[in-house]
Amino acid sequence: MKQRLLFLGPPGAGKGTQAQLLASSKGLLHLSTGDLLRAEVKAATPLGQEAEAVMARGELVSDALVLAIVRHRLERHNGGWLLDGFPRNLPQAMALDGLLAELGQAIELVVLMELEDPVLLQRLLARGRADDNAEVIRHRLEVYREQTAPLIAHYQGLGLLQPVEANGTVEEISARLRALLD
Ligand code: AMP
Repeated sequence: MKQRLLFLGPPGAGKGTQAQLLASSKGLLHLSTGDLLRAEVKAATPLGQEAEAVMARGELVSDALVLAIVRHRLERHNGGWLLDGFPRNLPQAMALDGLLAELGQAIELVVLMELEDPVLLQRLLARGRADDNAEVIRHRLEVYREQTAPLIAHYQGLGLLQPVEANGTVEEISARLRALLD
């Protein structure tokens, strides 16, 4: 079983749910930059105050800020991990490579969760998070297409990409993922 994974895919594809399930069943660290940023916002830390407005607009928080969060966690962790929502653009992917080289680690697999836009929209609207209104959702999908989707070709080129059909129930998708990863 692979121990160092990335979860890639558009907002609403179910990355967070599946990453959490898989990480807890395999004993991996689940590192979601979105969750960590929301915790900072909630605790009203300086970092959270910096991130809040950017997140509410559906834009990406600065690379330096998320990289500091990821570095802090990975440096202190021995064992496998599952990165969810990071990297989000090519500069972050490059920075992650640098960090992993420093730590003597490497990404073993990139799971791409694929889902059609109408289903994504439906799911996001049903979720009702602070940044889940129609206008911000549209913008987050644009940001995904422009900044994050280029990572697909990047990881495909490295031979790491594994696409997964993300339509279906939570149980169906998690069974698909387990079959892939075991
Ligand atoms: P998520 O929970 O992954 O949908 O992320 C929610 C929001 O947090 C995003 O819309 C961004 O504003 C911010 N965010 C999460 N991860 C990153 C990242 N790797 N780089 C920049 N911003 C991020």
